[in-house]
Amino acid sequence: MLLCPVRGCHLHLTREDRRVVCPRGHSFDIAKSGYINLLQPQDRRSRRPGDSAEAVAARRRLHDSGVTEPLLEAISALAAPAASDVVLDEGCGEGFFLGRLAAEHGFAGHGIDISIPAVDAAARRYPGCEWIVGNADRFVPYADGTFSLALSVTARMNAAELRRVLASGGRLMVAVPAPEDLVELRGVGRDRVARTLEAFTDGFTLTDHRRAITAADLDAAAVREVLTSIYRPLRAEPVGPMRLTFGLDLLLFRRD
Ligand SMILES: [Zn+2]
Repeated sequence: MLLCPVRGCHLHLTREDRRVVCPRGHSFDIAKSGYINLLQPQDRRSRRPGDSAEAVAARRRLHDSGVTEPLLEAISALAAPAASDVVLDEGCGEGFFLGRLAAEHGFAGHGIDISIPAVDAAARRYPGCEWIVGNADRFVPYADGTFSLALSVTARMNAAELRRVLASGGRLMVAVPAPEDLVELRGVGRDRVARTLEAFTDGFTLTDHRRAITAADLDAAAVREVLTSIYRPLRAEPVGPMRLTFGLDLLLFRRD
């Protein structure tokens, strides 16, 4: 169900030992850590190359500290994945949400992200899922109707491609930062719910909406990790321990 990303090709890719190849001979390497790099030359020149290794490492340490567990639980409760689901995570980052959910629920998980350091980290920690480096803004390299559930967690969203790769009746779980997210560091944010609903009017029906909020006391090092993970320049004055709020608006849609 993986498709060749070359413009005008999009034929099925067949997995060989160290690569995947399409009938026209376009071939893509499988990295040692197990991910498949489907980036095209025009994607490599993109002004949005994705998360840096430093930001990926900072986000992973944040997840590993346990502060984002309540958000994972909220996503799991709302998306309600089953072992029979085939799940796409568009903009999977270092794989925390998809990798953990797949391990817990036993479904087939497929994650795509444009950042090589992020996908490499995902493949190393969660080898049970398929991990793709690709530009989902342009093309999600899977056949029509492949997935029964798709996740987009604080990622850029390609509504047309999500609609295409989701089967009719499939679910889409979109998580966007809630206005309270990291309010202590960046003030009250925008409410992104209305804009997200607008992006998914065509072919989707909203079936549920919840706001997940949690807070945690972080030491100075952890606060610095959060700042790095959101690309905030470190302040001139030393950062101290803080209580930080983490929040997501979770929107569940049904693909019509
Ligand atoms: Zn091809």
